[in-house]
Amino acid sequence: MFKQSRIIFFSLCLLLAACGGSDSGETSAGIHEANHQMFKWKMVTTWPPNFPIFQEGAEKFAADVKIMSQGRLDIHVYAGGELVPPLQVFDAVSQGTIEMGHGSPYYWAGKVPEAQFFSSVPFGMTAKGMNAWLYHGGGLDLWKEVYAPFNLVPMPMGNTGVQMGGWFNKKIESLDDIKGLRMRIPGLGGKVFKRAGGNPVLLAGSEVYTALERGMIDATEWVGPFHDMRLGLDRAAKYYYFPGWHEPGTEFELMINSHAWAQLPKDLQLMVETTAAAVGGWIYTQMEFHNQASLKELRSKKNVEVLEFPAEVLAELKRLTRETLDEEASKNAKFKKIYDAYTTFSESYKDWSKMSDEAYQKALRE
Ligand code: CA
Repeated sequence: MFKQSRIIFFSLCLLLAACGGSDSGETSAGIHEANHQMFKWKMVTTWPPNFPIFQEGAEKFAADVKIMSQGRLDIHVYAGGELVPPLQVFDAVSQGTIEMGHGSPYYWAGKVPEAQFFSSVPFGMTAKGMNAWLYHGGGLDLWKEVYAPFNLVPMPMGNTGVQMGGWFNKKIESLDDIKGLRMRIPGLGGKVFKRAGGNPVLLAGSEVYTALERGMIDATEWVGPFHDMRLGLDRAAKYYYFPGWHEPGTEFELMINSHAWAQLPKDLQLMVETTAAAVGGWIYTQMEFHNQASLKELRSKKNVEVLEFPAEVLAELKRLTRETLDEEASKNAKFKKIYDAYTTFSESYKDWSKMSDEAYQKALRE
């Protein structure tokens, strides 16, 4: 009898919810009650302390949410290494010792190779296509599916824009110039570089300048003019190549422990989602703004030549990228599933992009 009345009550609640019962006394009382609950959370990031734009963005997110929620969601942000090492962010949030993390999915390639498609892949989509796919083309749903077994809820929060190809101590005129070259280039880009005969080296950002300056490596990629100059790379190598074929627009993620997420009332969840999207826009436009300003400064430096990779080098790298991705997909069904979805969208988007961005940029040049 008791059980039955509970079922009837539950069904009534469902009906109320389905009929948009937000006007009912019961539902608004529920929201009112939830409004008093305070959440003190921690966020860990993969970025060094004070790292411009990236770490700043994570801190802006926390500050904005605190103001909007009137302190109900209070997030303390820790940079990489302050609470957990940068590359343990995924595990810490997955285990629930920390509620939130900010980084980029390709850092977890060792654990979840297919996550790289939610970050950036060589010759893949730029920020525009990526975000169209993630928000509206099913990309984010796939991303949630990939992260669910790890108790993580992902959402986009930032993009670097198109990166630069990197700093070299000699000119790259053909693929032969890549043979044997020791370059700091991580991820799938590194695999393609290796296939081209290069020697990819793994180095943390803090080691890059010294390694290049002392000749321990021959080349390095980092981000774009703004961050690269901050690192002093314009003093360590002469040739600065574009475009960043290996990272055409690296997407950043906000990841939330799924149990912690489930405890947040709907209004706070919406605040988190909306702020993540807004801060994502802030990060991306900051990148575009600072990169153009830094490029202008770089152009005035006599010790640096800004050069475009020859078309045939890019064509070869593109062919090797296809081979690399196909090989990964043949070994891993999960990777293949996301690769196929990504490719279906990006091929379709390319057609539109040719008529919009590409044609317009061409018209601007002529
Ligand atoms: Ca990079």
